[in-house]
Amino acid sequence: MAKIMLFIDGTWLYANTARLSEVFGRAEYRLDFGKLPRVLAEEVGSQLGVTGVDVVRTYLFASIASNHDPLDRDLVGRRQDFFDMLKEEYHYEVEVYPVDYMGKRLRRVDRDPADAFEPKETCVDISLATSMLYLAAIPYAYDIAIAVLGDQDFKPVLQHVRRLGKRVAIASIKDSCTWDYVDPRDEARVKDFDIIWLDDLLSELELKYDPHYLPCASPNHKGPREVYTKFHPRKGQKFYCDDCREERSRQQEAQRQAQLTAAGSGEAAPEVGATRRGVVKVLIKGKGYGFLQSDDGLNYYFHFSALQGSISFDDLAVGEKLDFVVKEQAGPSVNGSAERVRRVQ
Ligand SMILES: [Zn+2]
Repeated sequence: MAKIMLFIDGTWLYANTARLSEVFGRAEYRLDFGKLPRVLAEEVGSQLGVTGVDVVRTYLFASIASNHDPLDRDLVGRRQDFFDMLKEEYHYEVEVYPVDYMGKRLRRVDRDPADAFEPKETCVDISLATSMLYLAAIPYAYDIAIAVLGDQDFKPVLQHVRRLGKRVAIASIKDSCTWDYVDPRDEARVKDFDIIWLDDLLSELELKYDPHYLPCASPNHKGPREVYTKFHPRKGQKFYCDDCREERSRQQEAQRQAQLTAAGSGEAAPEVGATRRGVVKVLIKGKGYGFLQSDDGLNYYFHFSALQGSISFDDLAVGEKLDFVVKEQAGPSVNGSAERVRRVQ
């Protein structure tokens, strides 16, 4: 049985998902990464004229933002979640390389228009090429490489993999693919099969969340435990129904408010400019702010931009001891706000 390995240029695929939505005629087209290897392998099998092909491994190469503005934490977290999901649910081999954003926002529209900063992706292309060629040189690792990509840069590696006697199939997206791979005469000698267009397989590859019954895991759940939902939990993840989740976030919010107003409500903070020492009480990660409680029990709001020295909001933890300067007295449900927040010297 022919052994197949997939090599996916994740950065390219991600950048062209909008193109697939356009072709599919629906704004939110989502690719089912669980089905992708099998559907592409079947295409290759049918071109080979055999029914049995064996997908032994799927590699995905991509990048993730590092050193970015804390306001984009959710966005980066979701991307990381997606990579974890590929590994845990579908056993992909995911190779991710950091892109340094130098503390800036991820999306250009969120950055200063005068800022000429361009994020630089590194290693992704070379990493894909190296893996594909390395495994081609390892006896019996694979017979056929399915390359899911479109950039011309990969031409030399596709040629060399074929020179090692391996077959190459290219799966790509129309209008996002270099002519060298499309060329039916294959002057560049890069493939052993007709090009596979993801555009033609969209309905087979669509991620569909069929509604089904799931038991709610909350001990406080009211009514029948089985709830009709479109939510598909990950391996080991618990399911909570909408009502229970709402109730829980209401409780958390109330708790947070109580914590903040419990100590010293009504008392005025020391005068503006006074230096105080306190601990981090609450962190609203993802929103970029938090609250400090000084040794005398007063609460202070702080924004991540108030952090000084080597402190990064990302690494800050509840309970950490910090020095700060009172910026103003009183604020929303607190005694004051803080500036020049820095490590205890
Ligand atoms: Zn429930």
